Amino acid sequence: TADSAKSFFRRNAFVLFTIVAVLLGIILAFSLRPYQLTYRQIKYFSFPGELLMRMLQMLVLPLIVSSLITGMASLDGRASGKMGMRAVVYYMVTTIIAVFIGILMVIIIHPGKGSKDKLHREGRIEQVQTTDAFMDLVRNMFPPNLVEACFKQIPVPENFTSILENVTHALGTISEVLTFEEVIPIPGSANGVNALGLVVFSMCFGLVIGSMKQKGRALREFFNCLNEAIMRLVAIIIWYAPVGIMFLIAGKILEMDDLAVMGGQLGMYTLTVIVGLLIHALCILPLLYFIVTHRNPWVFIAGLLQALITALGTSSSSATLPITFRCLEENNGVDRRITRFVLPVGATINMDGTALYEALAAIFIAQVNNYELDFGQIITISITATAASIGAAGIPQAGLVTMVIVLTSVGLPTEDITLIIAVDWFLDRLRTTTNVLGDSLGAGIVEHLSRRELDAQDCELGNSVIEEK
Ligand code: ASP
Repeated sequence: TADSAKSFFRRNAFVLFTIVAVLLGIILAFSLRPYQLTYRQIKYFSFPGELLMRMLQMLVLPLIVSSLITGMASLDGRASGKMGMRAVVYYMVTTIIAVFIGILMVIIIHPGKGSKDKLHREGRIEQVQTTDAFMDLVRNMFPPNLVEACFKQIPVPENFTSILENVTHALGTISEVLTFEEVIPIPGSANGVNALGLVVFSMCFGLVIGSMKQKGRALREFFNCLNEAIMRLVAIIIWYAPVGIMFLIAGKILEMDDLAVMGGQLGMYTLTVIVGLLIHALCILPLLYFIVTHRNPWVFIAGLLQALITALGTSSSSATLPITFRCLEENNGVDRRITRFVLPVGATINMDGTALYEALAAIFIAQVNNYELDFGQIITISITATAASIGAAGIPQAGLVTMVIVLTSVGLPTEDITLIIAVDWFLDRLRTTTNVLGDSLGAGIVEHLSRRELDAQDCELGNSVIEEK
């Protein structure tokens, strides 16, 4: 048993370190809170966490590009078409279920008590903005300049900057020390890439070099090596991850306001989101996995623990992507042809947690405004929430920005985003974790459904190796 304990420890060392780190972070933060550190001190304190965030983000771009290109190039056109279809169906089904749960929860729990009765507005002028947002989503799939796409984010809705300026102003003390982007990261101004555009390009490029037979070989090998090298970097950074996560979490706890703000309406809203996310993440998704694969979802989820904790710590599904890759491939043994292909796409467009939250938050804002939504408007919210979750980048609080699309689609006041901003940092972490879980279970499901194609391809590869000999 000493041996088995040792081997258990070796296999799960990172997860154990990470869990210990999270606990230490929480203890450390709560024991430092009474000293009321200044924002500057907290910034210094959480510096190791910031470094982890940057290291992970550094890998995301080459990881997305190289894994998608090699993933697509290693599959033949028909196989990738079939797998792609399965992945898309999975993304759509789970996102729709998530939106549905969000709406159901907010209607049943009804966290928003109509406190103001100011709202009778026509959504007409704003409708135009909604179509603009949809067009932007599609536009971004085709970045005119690939180099620029590597550092340019999806544009921020026009009125968002002014909304956020008000918020930062309201937050007073924080904005004196930090710049406004540091308080609420705005896509377009800070970190991140136009991932959607790069995903589309990489998939097409991969397909093309896959079909180029002998001529495409050099490129295939190049991206293969690149992918391999990036994964080795991930293996190094993973040693640092527990330290980074500890400081990320501790820093956030030090920074947060007293829990008193959570009282009343906002508290109920937070609770509603949490219940919705838990139902989706712990009941619906595992059940779906079980129904499709007949395997134990909890074993699979246990293998993902480190990715889930990283998502909680970084609140960014794209920064978590390197760890998600490792967990799925190393712990859960998911075929690399699947992860390379499904994960980067999932991290970019499949965000169940975000979709659930967007629909729920929009209806909450309607409730606060005493605004009766009819059935058609609820459908509109469902559709725009889905689009907003696809359009949201996998970076912290991106969902808050794309909320603007959902609100304007039914003529709700976008300024009211300020009502929920105080708790968003926390809910963001939970929905990011849900997003990562959804992508990962999706990879497991698509692999199971694609077993036949994968085996056929293994056979072919085996034959060609024998022929070459
Ligand atoms: N932070 C989330 C993610 O990275 C996106 C969101 O804000 O909902 O998945």
